[in-house]
Amino acid sequence: MATYDLVCLQCGNDFEVFVPGFIKDEDRQCPACGSFKTRQKYSAFLTNASTSSNSSSSAGCADCAQGSSGGGFT
Ligand SMILES: [Zn+2]
Repeated sequence: MATYDLVCLQCGNDFEVFVPGFIKDEDRQCPACGSFKTRQKYSAFLTNASTSSNSSSSAGCADCAQGSSGGGFT
């Protein structure tokens, strides 16, 4: 069983399909509008390759660096 994350190019609907193996063209139908113009975002087989990205700790540092340099020189 594999999970495929698809996005519909016709209406922008975001949906998942569950297929026993590789996805086929008939599995790519959008449940919202019935269009087959869908794009695969990623498959469930590749999820462990993108879980080791912890570079989201620089958002708060820009704020404190801006406050310390501005108040220290004057
Ligand atoms: Zn659609």
